[in-house]
Amino acid sequence: MYDVAVIGAGPAGSSLTYFLAAKGFKVLILERDRIPALRTICGEYLPDPSSMNIGGDVASAYYSFFEPFILHKISRITLKMGSREFSSNFIGYSIDRKSIIRERLKEAVDEGAELKTGEAFININKSDEGLYIKTLKGEYEARYLVGADGFESRVSKIFGLYNELKCDNVALAFSEEVSLDMEGPEEMQLFIDETLSPGTYAWVIPRSPKRANIGVGVRLNLMKRFNARLSLRELLRTLNVRENLKIRIKGRFVPVSGMKKDIAKGRIFLIGDAAGMTIPSNGGGMHTSIIAAYLLAQSMESSDSVGSYTKKVYEIILPMVTTGLVHRKAADFLTKTGLLWKTIDMLPEEIVREVIEVRKGRYFPLLRALAAFYEIVRGKVGNYPLC
Ligand SMILES: Cc1cc2nc3c(=O)[nH]c(=O)nc-3n(C[C@H](O)[C@H](O)[C@H](O)COP(=O)(O)OP(=O)(O)OC[C@H]3O[C@@H](n4cnc5c(N)ncnc54)[C@H](O)[C@@H]3O)c2cc1C
Repeated sequence: MYDVAVIGAGPAGSSLTYFLAAKGFKVLILERDRIPALRTICGEYLPDPSSMNIGGDVASAYYSFFEPFILHKISRITLKMGSREFSSNFIGYSIDRKSIIRERLKEAVDEGAELKTGEAFININKSDEGLYIKTLKGEYEARYLVGADGFESRVSKIFGLYNELKCDNVALAFSEEVSLDMEGPEEMQLFIDETLSPGTYAWVIPRSPKRANIGVGVRLNLMKRFNARLSLRELLRTLNVRENLKIRIKGRFVPVSGMKKDIAKGRIFLIGDAAGMTIPSNGGGMHTSIIAAYLLAQSMESSDSVGSYTKKVYEIILPMVTTGLVHRKAADFLTKTGLLWKTIDMLPEEIVREVIEVRKGRYFPLLRALAAFYEIVRGKVGNYPLC
């Protein structure tokens, strides 16, 4: 019998397997794709621990997990909105997501973990001692099960941990890597533009002085206004890239709804996008996945692993996610009512900096009030997937 079966080898599942194997747990990780990280669609940006105000063992475990795979340091984020530009000295890194996942899994396997690829989790049977995990190829017994199976987590659906999502709580984002001569390769650029990326933002994340990850996104309730290929081309035009680049359209869903009410129950745990750990204002979810993996690996050593995991996540991850949710809803209110563009010239720099940094600053009460108004003006929004 395995101690833990992990479903999904994305950032959440691979980091959890790595941390658990290092502690001596007998781990099985199941990935439906033939090769882990086969479909990497991501901005591949991770914030420095100091930018998130985390410290101690959590910060060092998080940082050392990805440190060997840093491609490029980014020391500033500039957000462009109409005629205004807002900058924040926010430290982060462009990383190689594929290598992080594959190398860290390899190390976990060296420590005794078992990785089975091309094997999708289908269902489960429970007994007093263990859980019988079914795939199309076989059945495995484990004491604990972890759903690290992303946005539409089958594990969360089977265990009633799935929340129905309204369409404005889901984004669809597209990314591409391009050659680009950048004036400031230490700067990440974000663009708020309702045509380019309705309800989200467009980005340019340098991966070297000559290459960048670019991306656009849309909220599912605003799909009618959006064409990914045209938006990516328009973004390239904004960046003065004249070549007619071949753009592959690679998109993926991002939950921007906030964290699920229940992230653990009995012997079942959720982590990463499966638990709604993405920051709703910026769509970043790799950092919270890695941190949650470290917290869950620690909690598995406790006699009350459900209580311990929930407590740690509520202390460290939930505040980041709920701050991001308030920021997202405040921005939704301002764009929905048209107030954003009417007041743009008066917008204090500090308020935008708080949002970029996902920080509770002195404007937080105002942002919280605006977020509450969004619920009033929101109107009728359909349910995912019938958006
Ligand atoms: C375009 C785009 C850009 C982004 N940019 C960033 C960024 O720059 N920084 C950042 O921090 N975040 C970013 N994100 C968000 C980030 O990618 C996610 O938050 C992160 O991938 C979540 O990791 P996860 O492991 O929880 O889920 P996933 O990455 O979705 O991994 C889930 C894994 O589970 C597997 N799986 C699913 N179902 C089953 C099953 N039944 N059986 C077996 N395996 C299964 C999947 O194949 C997959 O490998 C971006 C997202 C998008 C779409």
